[in-house]
Amino acid sequence: MAISHFYPPKRTLMGPGPSDVSPQVLAALAKPTIGHLDPLFIGLMEETKSLLQYAFQTKNEFTIAVSAPGSAGMETCFVNLVEPGDKVIVCINGVFGQRMKENVIRCGGEAIVIEQEWGRAVDPQTVEDCLKNNADAKFLAFVHAETSTGALSDAKTLCQLAHQHGCLTIVDAVTSLGGVELRVDDWGIDAIYSGSQKCLSCVPGISPVSLSEQAVAKIKNRQTPVQSWFLDQTLVMGYWSGEGKRSYHHTAPVNSIYALHESLLLLQQESLESAWQRHRDQHEVLKAGLLDLGLEFVVPKEERLPQLNTVRIPQGVDDAQVRKYLLEEFNLEIGAGLGAFAGNAWRIGLMGYAARSENVQLCLAALKQALN
Ligand SMILES: *Cc1c(COP(=O)(O)O)cnc(C)c1O
Repeated sequence: MAISHFYPPKRTLMGPGPSDVSPQVLAALAKPTIGHLDPLFIGLMEETKSLLQYAFQTKNEFTIAVSAPGSAGMETCFVNLVEPGDKVIVCINGVFGQRMKENVIRCGGEAIVIEQEWGRAVDPQTVEDCLKNNADAKFLAFVHAETSTGALSDAKTLCQLAHQHGCLTIVDAVTSLGGVELRVDDWGIDAIYSGSQKCLSCVPGISPVSLSEQAVAKIKNRQTPVQSWFLDQTLVMGYWSGEGKRSYHHTAPVNSIYALHESLLLLQQESLESAWQRHRDQHEVLKAGLLDLGLEFVVPKEERLPQLNTVRIPQGVDDAQVRKYLLEEFNLEIGAGLGAFAGNAWRIGLMGYAARSENVQLCLAALKQALN
């Protein structure tokens, strides 16, 4: 068969990401490409940096977008901060915590694992006990919003505990940024990474990262060079540090940065507080509808993410068949279960631009028909 141009259908994306991208962000992506060292582009990177500082609620000078997806943001934090022999306490309550552990081991660090029940928040008491028992630990790492289960952990409390015990904090905010309250400076987060395609509703492939002064100092004082050349932030710092100081490191994904800039600008215009509220409001409507359909939530009420709703698949219902039906009949994508929840739960995302009333109504109507 002859290969032809690709025309994707217009889907509604209500899974664990990517989420619906707003038309304005798609339009930004289609603007003319300019050189990545063009003074106008350097200006755009500066603006993107300050928009990211707003989104993260931080004054961290080191606030950038890594030219690769959220997983690369994760790797950036670990590979730069963790040196061989460093002890890292890793909280695992889902798939992404497991990946953190994998990162620590590959950096030559020692992972002290806190295994928690999937579908629950990280338990601060367990973390405190672990910090007490590991006085030589250098970092506490955890996932703020566990997309594999839909659980939200108390990042503020966990960071406080870490600092009381002399640990720096590494936080996965891939799904939380823009969707739920997140305050990097107030909460004392030292290294944080996110993704473009979840609650920022931008195209996939970029990862916002921010590092505190203490984290930057730890990197500058490394005894061994960072093992990854591309992700070595001591090299990237020059690339993101403004006009005059800019030196070539790699070619930025120019058009993707246009898109990220636009999505962050939309977030700033809406305001973070309003975006958080909108996610909560849409979640409440969706929740009521899902309960009406007889579906049960996996995560207890107080620990639930508004932007990622994990519900148990009812007995006798074929998981794959329902998702196929939604995709084919309604152009609607919802997420399958991941890890421990594969085959027995659905993950319904309400992320960023997807957290709208039309989407909630479509999803409820489509699921009702599918279940009948
Ligand atoms: C999606 C996700 C990632 C990985 O991001 P990619 O852009 O897919 O590489 C990491 N952590 C969490 C919590 C996520 O939801």
